[in-house]
Amino acid sequence: MADFKEEYVPCVECHAGVLLPRRVTYLTWLGTELITVPQFPAWVCDVCGRREYDERAVQWLNILLDPNAGKPSSSRRNAAPQPRQRGRHQPPMPES
Ligand SMILES: [Zn+2]
Repeated sequence: MADFKEEYVPCVECHAGVLLPRRVTYLTWLGTELITVPQFPAWVCDVCGRREYDERAVQWLNILLDPNAGKPSSSRRNAAPQPRQRGRHQPPMPES
């Protein structure tokens, strides 16, 4: 039925171009630090230049940078930075 040979993703911005896989420099803020990630996978429109970062790569990067990524930002502000945990999805441990 559908033809999946074409991997081009039509641009939702201009509806004329297609998003092509490119490697770009991804910029994101980690707290007050500006993180730059060169050679980051993204999709760039060949007409209007709309740029969409690869969703899985973004999620992967967020997990690397912050294990709490994805959660809504807490309403209260933590004065002290919390130590980063390397483990993925650790169950809450009772404080002894
Ligand atoms: Zn476009």
